Amino acid sequence: MSLTFHLDFASSEARAGRLITPHGEVETPVFMPVGTVASVKGVPQETLEELGVQILLANTYHLYLRPGVTTVRQMGGLHRFMAWPRAILTDSGGFQVFSLNDLRKVTDEGVTFRSHLDGSTHFFSPESAMEAQIALGADIIMAFDECTEYPADAARTRASMELTLRWAERSKKYFEDHKAEVPWNAAGEIARATPVPATQALFGIVQGGMDHKLRRESAARTVEIGFPGYAIGGLSVGEPRALTREIVEATIAHLPSDKPRYLMGVGTPEEIVDYACLGVDMMDCVLPTRAARHGLLFTSEGKVSIKQARYAQDETPLDPNCGCRVCRRYSRAYLRHLYASNEVLAQGLNTVHNLSFYLDTMRRVRHAIRLGERSRFLSDVWSRPKP
Ligand SMILES: [Zn+2]
Repeated sequence: MSLTFHLDFASSEARAGRLITPHGEVETPVFMPVGTVASVKGVPQETLEELGVQILLANTYHLYLRPGVTTVRQMGGLHRFMAWPRAILTDSGGFQVFSLNDLRKVTDEGVTFRSHLDGSTHFFSPESAMEAQIALGADIIMAFDECTEYPADAARTRASMELTLRWAERSKKYFEDHKAEVPWNAAGEIARATPVPATQALFGIVQGGMDHKLRRESAARTVEIGFPGYAIGGLSVGEPRALTREIVEATIAHLPSDKPRYLMGVGTPEEIVDYACLGVDMMDCVLPTRAARHGLLFTSEGKVSIKQARYAQDETPLDPNCGCRVCRRYSRAYLRHLYASNEVLAQGLNTVHNLSFYLDTMRRVRHAIRLGERSRFLSDVWSRPKP
């Protein structure tokens, strides 16, 4: 077994289901917090468990540079290394490498790039990206792709899409030949718990820029290669929000309904609800964690910039409708003071609340889908007054 996906409820486009991974069950649609270097900055793993996090995302590029995939493999893989027994997804490293515009060179073989840490030169190919992700040992891993920049002309978008398709085939081939090498499989941990040896699941990534026809072609040809799940990549790269939504909708129409769909790198609370309504099953974004570290907090009453002086003597909780451990215990005045004093605790508490808000939002989305209340869907989830 690598991954099973059960669709429990579907009403029109929106659906609720369960991903069964070698490290536990994940209820979908799911928002995956980002733990870039195998850590959600400022939040210990037991708190993530308490928040109900069922799957975390970690970044291959960062872990490859530090501490290095050999070290993680020797420590038994990411789960054991970071003491996280639940599911993990790693990206392929492609997106981060492509963000290093001045530091990279792309050929058909792969990408040469320079480390943002020390300027040293490295090379990622579909094969080496798979090798790294197998060593890290996440439950779900991603094919190596090229994230097409925005804007890009028609010829460039097609060439980039074709490259991603060639790399998808090479990723799958390497993975199929080497999937038994995952560290927790070798350790026999999972083999003991399940009737057949467990392996990771490799997802394909659909590209095709902002072109509907290329998106359809990319989806069809990626599905033809065959993966247990499909990601929609190449979005949130600077295009207008309305265009992101349009391309998501156009791409989903060409993905199989019985496989999980993962929209990479989105979004605001409103957006993740909207995408779940369109039939997206998995999402990840640095927004709730990064914004928290900058004092920007998402609440049922809208965004709160906790640094503002108006909160200096505000005794109320950050979000009166939130039951998280931060809102139950601390006042806005105290959170504002921690932030203004640059206390480490501010980052941790702010992140716990923002994650709680995102996870709670998705919980309510799943509930609404399960009740089949699609007509009242958005109003159910966003029933509270906004300022
Ligand atoms: Zn809260």
